[in-house]
Amino acid sequence: MTARRVLVWFKRDLRVHDHAPLVAALAHDDALALFVIEPEWLHSPECDGSHVDFVLACLTELRAALAVRGMPLLVRVGSAVQVLTQLHNEVAFTHLLSHEETGPGWSYGRDLQVVAWCKASRIAWQEFTQTGVVRRLRSRSGWAQRWQARMDAPLHLLDGKFVAAVTLDQPALPTLSSLGLMPHGKKLQPPGEKAARQTLKSFLQVRGYDYRKALSSPLSAEEGCSRLSPHLAFGTLSMRTVHQATEVAIGSAPDRALAYSLRGFAGRLRWHCHFMQKLEDEPNIEFHNFARVCDGLRENDFNDHYFSAWCEGRTGYPMVDACMRSLIATGWLNFRMRAMLVSFASYHLWLHWRQTGLFLARQFLDYEPGIHWSQMQMQSGTTGINTLRMYSPTKQAQDQDPEGLFIRRWIPELARVPLPYLAAPWKMDESLQHMAGCMIGVDYPRPVVDDKAAIKAAKDRMYGLRQTQEAREEAGAVQARHGSRKSGLPPSGQRRKVEEPPTPRAQGDLFA
Ligand SMILES: Cc1cc2nc3c(=O)[nH]c(=O)nc-3n(C[C@H](O)[C@H](O)[C@H](O)COP(=O)(O)OP(=O)(O)OC[C@H]3O[C@@H](n4cnc5c(N)ncnc54)[C@H](O)[C@@H]3O)c2cc1C
Repeated sequence: MTARRVLVWFKRDLRVHDHAPLVAALAHDDALALFVIEPEWLHSPECDGSHVDFVLACLTELRAALAVRGMPLLVRVGSAVQVLTQLHNEVAFTHLLSHEETGPGWSYGRDLQVVAWCKASRIAWQEFTQTGVVRRLRSRSGWAQRWQARMDAPLHLLDGKFVAAVTLDQPALPTLSSLGLMPHGKKLQPPGEKAARQTLKSFLQVRGYDYRKALSSPLSAEEGCSRLSPHLAFGTLSMRTVHQATEVAIGSAPDRALAYSLRGFAGRLRWHCHFMQKLEDEPNIEFHNFARVCDGLRENDFNDHYFSAWCEGRTGYPMVDACMRSLIATGWLNFRMRAMLVSFASYHLWLHWRQTGLFLARQFLDYEPGIHWSQMQMQSGTTGINTLRMYSPTKQAQDQDPEGLFIRRWIPELARVPLPYLAAPWKMDESLQHMAGCMIGVDYPRPVVDDKAAIKAAKDRMYGLRQTQEAREEAGAVQARHGSRKSGLPPSGQRRKVEEPPTPRAQGDLFA
């Protein structure tokens, strides 16, 4: 009988816990693992050195964790089919196991090539689900129940060791410079599976208390949000692990305040997959408007000067600029401020979401294509179905940074501007500007556009379009295909029997 040699192909699932392909590999005669650093990824317009840096650090930890379990992890640079072909010549694997991926255009194209290659090479490629995204979904009805069932299913526990019959060289991992990438200069969240589990634990036990209150301000969100997004994006934690740990934390919360707060968080985990499902169902939304009636709305109006000012945090609107500078330095920003940045770019500056979205994709360490492109379009008014939200940057400064701490932290030019003027420093007269050591137009830019006039123009255009018969008809179709439905599910913490303290096994030794 021919030996069954299996190759586990790691992609955006850089963990050993709750990893279905790894567990399935245990049933084979011998197994090895692969991560491919694909030039298509490195050269894609949404890839940044910070993403690669994070992944390389995760791979270092993963390689050590797999070695303990007897599985070598090969890390090779090249196009997927090219690397698979070469490896197949070296070790003649018979099976390929991986997780499903809902990725951008280039990874979708790569998957089609791998399917064809596997067929031609007689390799059995098995893909496993890892999120709530359903492939070849016919209808959104019942989607929430399917998500729930998947997330409640038992975790995949790795009980046992692998046998690696072949020994291959495992050269040191490449570096950013050996891959031809520049240093990114960002201060990133800690990478790897251990850090991910630690982040989850600290959120569910301590930081999550104020989640609902902390969400909106960039000051409180830094600590009060879970900060799990890069870990979910690169798979150092599975969504099922986060969901199950959250349900247990809600059920066993020492007081109602924590349970209430965590319920708000639990609902957002489903949003993650809800948005990814949109890209799975309609891959074109990465490039085209959801509502095609919006085609032509912004395409010919792109103003490079506005775009540079926005990218560099020099729009003259302190809250916008502080958010952008903070994002560039850390790779993360809370939801409300992301929405404000996009609203400002799309409505005030009338920039097309594709270019601004690519810039933000590079800045967000947690870039997740399905969420990202859906949100970019939602905040730009091109889905045709969502309420139009146009944020006022001065109101957001007053609401979310009432003492000006965030603005002063990220815009040192404004450090001495009196608080009443901090959200709108151009309102200072000349003598005040002298006293504050900040001359508008010299030390800090004048507003690139007039807030009120820009918003009025955007409203006229957007509402004018929305009222057309064509827009209304198309909205119905978009809603039917992508809109959320009432889930009908009971609240978090009441769905599963969470009263009993979980055994380490049932929890997959979650906080080990
Ligand atoms: C224009 C724009 C682009 C965005 N791009 C991304 C992206 O590329 N990757 C990404 O993970 N999130 C994206 N988001 C959603 C959201 O801002 C982040 O998920 C969140 O800020 C991450 O921080 P956290 O993990 O601390 O979130 P928490 O508030 O602690 O939420 C926990 C998790 O729930 C999910 N979640 C929370 N809010 C949302 C939401 N509104 N939509 C979908 N899922 C959500 C995420 O997986 C998140 O990690 C985007 C939002 C906007 C407005």
